[in-house]
Amino acid sequence: MTLAIKNLSVKYGPVQVLSRVSFSLSNGEVLCIIGPNGSGKSTLIKTLAGILEPCDGNITLDERDISKISKNEVAKKIGYVPQDFQFLTSASVLEAVILGRRPHVQWSLSRSDLAKVDAAMEMLNISSMAQKMLTELSGGERQRVFIARAIAQEPDYFLFDEPTSALDIRHQIDVFQMVKKIAGSKTRSVLVAVHDLNFAYHYADRVILLDKGEIVSMGTVDEVMTEENIISVYGVPMQFITTSSGRYVFPDWVRAEEHTGKLQK
Ligand code: ADP
Ligand code: MG
Repeated sequence: MTLAIKNLSVKYGPVQVLSRVSFSLSNGEVLCIIGPNGSGKSTLIKTLAGILEPCDGNITLDERDISKISKNEVAKKIGYVPQDFQFLTSASVLEAVILGRRPHVQWSLSRSDLAKVDAAMEMLNISSMAQKMLTELSGGERQRVFIARAIAQEPDYFLFDEPTSALDIRHQIDVFQMVKKIAGSKTRSVLVAVHDLNFAYHYADRVILLDKGEIVSMGTVDEVMTEENIISVYGVPMQFITTSSGRYVFPDWVRAEEHTGKLQK
């Protein structure tokens, strides 16, 4: 089973923001998308989630053209967690997670649907908030609700757009361990846009480096996240260190400031 993307291009009005993007997501893999702000990560994920229409190229889900598959069937296969939640309805936490079961439900929720909702809420540590309204939660709590909704949906392909941007470090690690576990089942895969390069270093099986709407590099962490690639795309001097627990990257503050100073002169 594969989600395959071929020569995908996307425009907002006349402005092209993704150009000829091709890759595929196979079973059991965590594929991280990295790239600076505005490089097209969210646009790519939204297009795969069926929210935006490509102007060129195609997407196939298990070898079938996605545009020819019913929305409900796609929703059983692809679960999407957006970067920001603009459309907050007056729903409770429980109602929001229950919505994850909607593609599977004919008339009413079965006991097994509710058990899946409960399990997803347990997993994200939000069971105690079940009756709270979404508007009463912190940004991080809300982010966990939408991740729980995708888990309850039981899709084959998860699309996470910066799922940890509002989370504290404990919950960030928990979410990435969960991502690893989802892919570890070997029947599911995760495409995840990440802001913090260190999570890509530690959790990605493969990485896509996007810049200005194009794939600059794609491959294993070691192939893609080289000092040369990272520094050239982000335009900031970085320090790379390898410890017994893996490789880390962080900006070199002093040189980064000098660098900006030079650009401003
Ligand atoms: P990323 O997620 O990597 O930060 P996005 O996919 O959100 O990048 O944005 C890619 C480019 O498309 C940016 O230049 C952004 O300004 C532009 N863009 C994003 N959303 C819209 C929109 N709704 N209308 C017009 N331009 C957009
Ligand atoms: Mg984004």
